[in-house]
Amino acid sequence: MRAILLASALWAMLAVGSLFLRDGLGAALLFWAPSGVAVAAFWSIPRKKWALLVAVLLPVQAATVAAAGVPFITAFAYAVSAISQAVICAVLSRIVLGDRISVPRRLVHVVGLFGAAIAGCLVGATLALPFRPEQTLTEFATWFLANVLGILIVTPALFHVRNALMRWRREGRFTFDRELVLALAVCAVLAGLAIHVTAIPLMPLLIAAMIVMAVRFGHAAVAMTLLTYIAVSSAFSLGGESPLPLHDGTIGAAVLALQSWLFTMLATALPLAAILMKREDLQFELIRRNSDMHENLMLLDLAEQLAGIGRWRLDLKTGEQEWSARMLQIHGLPEELGENPGDVRALLPDSGEALFGKIAKHSDAREPFSFDYQIKPPEGAERILRISVLNEFDNEGRRIAVFGAAMDVTQQVRREQSLDLARGRAVQLAKEAQELANTDPLTNLPNRRCTFGRLESMVEVAQQHGSPLTAIMLDIDHFKRVNDTHGHQTGDEVIVQVAELARRQARQSDVVGRIGGEEFVWLLPRIDGDAARALAERLRGSVERGIEGSSLPHVTISIGLAEFQSGDDGDGLLARADAALYKAKESGRNQVRRAA
Ligand code: GH3
Ligand code: MG
Ligand code: MG
Repeated sequence: MRAILLASALWAMLAVGSLFLRDGLGAALLFWAPSGVAVAAFWSIPRKKWALLVAVLLPVQAATVAAAGVPFITAFAYAVSAISQAVICAVLSRIVLGDRISVPRRLVHVVGLFGAAIAGCLVGATLALPFRPEQTLTEFATWFLANVLGILIVTPALFHVRNALMRWRREGRFTFDRELVLALAVCAVLAGLAIHVTAIPLMPLLIAAMIVMAVRFGHAAVAMTLLTYIAVSSAFSLGGESPLPLHDGTIGAAVLALQSWLFTMLATALPLAAILMKREDLQFELIRRNSDMHENLMLLDLAEQLAGIGRWRLDLKTGEQEWSARMLQIHGLPEELGENPGDVRALLPDSGEALFGKIAKHSDAREPFSFDYQIKPPEGAERILRISVLNEFDNEGRRIAVFGAAMDVTQQVRREQSLDLARGRAVQLAKEAQELANTDPLTNLPNRRCTFGRLESMVEVAQQHGSPLTAIMLDIDHFKRVNDTHGHQTGDEVIVQVAELARRQARQSDVVGRIGGEEFVWLLPRIDGDAARALAERLRGSVERGIEGSSLPHVTISIGLAEFQSGDDGDGLLARADAALYKAKESGRNQVRRAA
C-alpha cells in the first residue's frame, strides 16, 4: 500500500511539475515523465495488487489533469489511456525480462523493452485521440514520443534510484560516482553548445557523447545523460523559446525533431550497453570458473599427496611432459628435475623399459589400462609401482597425449606375496593331515574310515548309472599262528607283503584298504562278479606262492566276494562279502567264495 501511495504521489508531483514547466514557465514538454512512474509502479508490485493500484492511481491522475484545467470527462479519459498504456507496457516488459531482473542484460531484452514501450504508448495515444479532435499528426506523434521517452528514460532511472537508496540504507553511506557526475556535467555543456550554437549542427556530437557514456558507465548512465540533455534543452526553451533553435520550423516541429533525436540516441546507446553488460557477465563467469578450477586442482593435489599418487602426462604433439613431484619421487628421480624433465629414460635403471615399453605396446588402447613394474633406484631397495594409464585421442582418432597415475605398491605386493605363500603352506598342511587321517600307517593303504567313505561314493555311482561294482574281502589264514611262531614284528611284515600284493593287482580306479588287523577290502567299480572272481583267484594264488626270495613265512588268504545289487548300501554289500569269506574259512580256507 505504501508503494502504491508513493507511486501515486510521485506521479502527481511529476505531472504537476511538468505541467507547470509548460504552462507556467513556457518550457517545451519534451517527455512525459509520469508515464515512467506508472510503468515502474505496475512493474514492482505483485499482480494481485494491480486493481488496488488502478483504484488509487486513476482518480489521482484524473484529478491532477482536471486541476490543470482539462474538462473532467477528458481528464478521466486521459487517465484511462495512461493506465492502459502502463499496464500494457508492464505486462509486455515482464514477458521480455522475466520477473526477476529490472535491467536489460541482452540485446533481445532491449529490443523487447522498446517494443513494449512503443506498443503501450500507441494504445495510450490512440485511446486519448477521440478526446483531442483538433489534434494534428505532429501533435499525435509528440504525445506518443513524449510517453515513449518518459517510459524508456524514467522507469530505469527510478529503479536505479531505488537501488541506490537501498544500498544507502544497507551500507549507511551514500556513494556516488564522481567521474559520472563530472561526465554528466560535460554532457550538459555539450548539450548547451549543440542547442545554442546554431551556426554549426552539433547534434551528432551529443550522440557520440551518449555512446561514450553508455560504454563507460553502462545502462543507467544512458537514462541520466538523456535527462541531462532534456534538462538543458528545456531550460533553453523557458519562456516559449524553441528548444532547438537551429530547427527553423515551428516550435512544435522543433520539439518533435528533438524528440526523434532523443529516441534515436536511446535506440543507439541502449543495445550497446546491453551488449557490454553481457560481455561483462561472461567475463565474470569466466573468472568464477577459473577460480573454481583452481580450487579443484588444489583439492586434486591434496588428494594425490594423501594417497601417495604420482601424476604424469605426455603431450605427444609438443613432446612436453608433466611430472608431479610425487611421480618423480616414487621413480627415484630428483625433484629438482621439475615438471618437464625431458627424456628421463637414461636416469631410470632399466632405461625406462618396464614403464615406457609397456605404455608403447598399448598405444591403441581406448580404455584405461594398468600394470605393475619394478624400479630399482640408485640408492635404496627395489620398488614395485602400479600405474593406470589413459591414452587421449583427438576427433580423428590420433593419439595426442598419455596420462598416467602411479603409486608405490611394494609393501602391498609383498604382503600379498607372503599371504599367498602362507595360504599355500596351510593348504599343503591340511592336505597332509587329511591324508594322514585317511591312511593306515603300517601299509600306507587307505584305512577303514577312508575305505568305507570311498565305498559309499562307489555305491552311489553304481546306483545312478546301473554300472557293476564288486567288493572283495580277504583275511589271512591262521594269522595268530604267524604271530605266535615268528613274532609280532614278522606278523607286521607279512601284513605289509599281502597288502603290497593286493595293491599291485588293483587297477587305478580300484580301492584296496585295510579294514582290520589282517583283513582287507578290494573295491572294483565297473567289474561284475565273474570277472572279480577271476581276479580274486589270481590274488589268492599269488599270496599262496609268495614273493620270490622273500624270507617271510608263507601264508594263504581266504576271500569272499559280493556283487552290488540294486537296493544294496555299502554296509549291506560288505556284509554279504563277509558272509562269503566266512564260508571260505569254513570250507577249509585258502579259497574264494562268492556271495549268493
Ligand atoms: P583265521 O584263519 O580264522 O582268520 O585265523 P586267525 O588266526 O587269523 O584268526 P583271527 O583273524 O581271529 O586273528 C587275527 C589275529 O591277528 C589276532 C591278532 O593278534 C593279530 N593281529 C591283529 N592285528 C595285528 C597287527 O597289526 N600286527 C600283528 N602282528 N598281528 C595282528
Ligand atoms: Mg585271519
Ligand atoms: Mg581276522
